[in-house]
Amino acid sequence: MDQLQGVIWLDGKMVDWQEARVHVLTHTLHYGLGVFEGVRVYPTERGSAIFRLADHTRRLFNSAHIVQMKIPYTAEAITQAQIESVRQNKVKHGYIRPMCFYGSEEMGLRAQHLKTHTMIASWEWPSYMSADGLKNGIKVRTSSYTRHHVNISMCKAKCNGNYVNSILALEEAMRCGCAEALMLDNEGYVAEGTGENVFIVRDGVLHTPCLTSCLDGITRRTVIQLATDMGIDYIERQITRDEFYVADEAFFCGTAAEVVPIQSLDDRIIGTGKCGPLTKKLQDAYFDCVMGKNTHVDDWLTYVPT
Ligand code: PMP
Repeated sequence: MDQLQGVIWLDGKMVDWQEARVHVLTHTLHYGLGVFEGVRVYPTERGSAIFRLADHTRRLFNSAHIVQMKIPYTAEAITQAQIESVRQNKVKHGYIRPMCFYGSEEMGLRAQHLKTHTMIASWEWPSYMSADGLKNGIKVRTSSYTRHHVNISMCKAKCNGNYVNSILALEEAMRCGCAEALMLDNEGYVAEGTGENVFIVRDGVLHTPCLTSCLDGITRRTVIQLATDMGIDYIERQITRDEFYVADEAFFCGTAAEVVPIQSLDDRIIGTGKCGPLTKKLQDAYFDCVMGKNTHVDDWLTYVPT
C-alpha cells in the first residue's frame, strides 16, 4: 500500500500519500482503540459514485460515540473530505478508508490528553473476494474463535481492536483452504463472517441472525431493502450451525465482500453447491444498485465531481 500514489486526508489537510505517517508511539497502534469505516466507490454512467456515504459516516460517528472518542470535525466535513479524496485520487472502482485514532501525545491506558487524529485514504480496489468466489460461491469453515460477546467488546462500534478476532478467524479458515470463516456467537448460534453479515435461504425466505449477534451492516440493510422491494420475506432469528448445513442457499454480504454465495460450510455442500437462484437475484440487484442502474434507490449514491 505504501507504494501507491495519490493523496491522503490527514487532520484536515490533503497530504502526499508517502507523507501520511504517524509516530511509533501512536496510542491506537499499541492498544487498538480507534474507529474506522470501509466505504465503496463504484463506476457508474455518471462517473464515480460513493455508496451509502451518509450511512457510513453516521456509523463512524456512532462508533466514536460508543468508545467516547471525540472526532474534531463535523459529519459534513468528513463527508466532503471523503468525496474530495476520491476526486483527487481519481478512484473509479475502489474503496475509502476513514479512520479516527489517538496520537502519540501520551502512553499508557490512563492517558487523558490524547488528540484524536483523522485520516481518509481511497484507492482502486475492485474486489475483495475472487471473481470465481463471487460467481460460484466460496468454501467456509465454522471458526474455532467465538464472535465477540456484546459486553466484552463494543460490537456496534467498528473499533480497530475488534478486528484481531476477525483476523485470527480468517487466517484459520484460509489455512484450511476456505475463503472465509463463519463466526458463532457466545451462545453457539450463527453470528457473522469476519467482515460480513450472513443470510441463509429456506423455502424462498431469507433468514439472518438478529442484530444482537452481528454488526448492523449497511449491506445487510441494503439486501433486506432490495429483498423487501422484490416481495421476498425475511426473518431475523437465532440460526444454528446444523441448520446452516441444510439451507437451500447461503451468502455473505458486506461493503468489501459485496454479495458472495457460500458453496459449502465445514465441507457440507449448501443446496446445489453453486450460487442459488435467490442469491443470484439479490447479487444482481445489489450490483445494479451500486452501479447506479436502479434509479429507485439513487439517493444511496453520492456522485463524485471530476
Ligand atoms: N460484520 C462485520 C464484523 C464487519 O466488519 C462488516 C464490515 N463492516 C460487516 C459485518 C458488514 O458491514 P457493512 O455491510 O456495513 O460493510
